[in-house]
Amino acid sequence: MGLTIGVDIGGTKIAAGVVDEEGAILETHTVPTPATPSGIVDAIRAAVAGAGEGHDIEAVGIGAAGYVDDKRATVIFAPNIDWRHEPLKDKVEQRTGLPVVVENDANAAAWGEYRFGAGQGHEDVICITLGTGLGGGIIIGNKLRRGRFGVAAEFGHIRVVPDGLLCGCGSQGCWEQYASGRALVRYARQRAGATPENARILLGLGDGTSDGIEGKHISAAARQGDPVAIDSFRELARWAGAGLADLASLFDPSAFIVGGGVSDEGELVLDPIRKSFRRRLIGSQWRPHAQVLAARLGNRAGMVGAADLARQG
Ligand SMILES: [Zn+2]
Repeated sequence: MGLTIGVDIGGTKIAAGVVDEEGAILETHTVPTPATPSGIVDAIRAAVAGAGEGHDIEAVGIGAAGYVDDKRATVIFAPNIDWRHEPLKDKVEQRTGLPVVVENDANAAAWGEYRFGAGQGHEDVICITLGTGLGGGIIIGNKLRRGRFGVAAEFGHIRVVPDGLLCGCGSQGCWEQYASGRALVRYARQRAGATPENARILLGLGDGTSDGIEGKHISAAARQGDPVAIDSFRELARWAGAGLADLASLFDPSAFIVGGGVSDEGELVLDPIRKSFRRRLIGSQWRPHAQVLAARLGNRAGMVGAADLARQG
């Protein structure tokens, strides 16, 4: 089979990419994300047409942030787009005339990393994506495991703190409240508010107040040695690594892949995650350890993974 298109539906833009059998992106086309479900179908059609022009395209894979049903056809529910039982596969097939596979975006990214990124050579891989929230994907025995109803691997909403922080999902103490980009900002603001003398670089990058601190400031300040910024990454890593140890108890993979914007910081965050993981792993001294690897494909993972899943049909 030849070329397929992977579509990444983000909050501000929809990106379609023509992807070959080796996972290489040959061409991309990007359009703004409309506010309505019908507008989004039009935009996907436009992005697919723009990217696919002049190429012989065989199928389309769409990565969508939401719960996708077991037939990989309908978005059951999405937190950020007004999708409620949205038959996205049928609508996009009608508009493009191509076979369509819809997949949860974190699953698509996990598949991309497994096939063409950090997971190559592994049969059992668990991916976590540390973005605004925390997403995940499960590959066991070289298969993407979606669960009976298609909604497995929602790791971000595992409860890690009973009666903990309120989560956007309505529950309390979810993992993503402690290990995500949003959590990182909270740690930095709290620490900078409590000990501003240790956050001079960090505070200097924003408007000077702890509430003005944003994610990009924390990354820049940590690279310049700001103690609060570094400590905020460590706190995030502590929670992330502890959660991976729990996932090792569940899945026993040979590799964890850590992706998402937070992981762009590389060893600054990966090294403390590994330490926390080893510390929390049961029987740590006596058992084999899964590798904890940085994702390699960056924000291309979802597009490449969705395209490959479409190729596999
Ligand atoms: Zn939650």
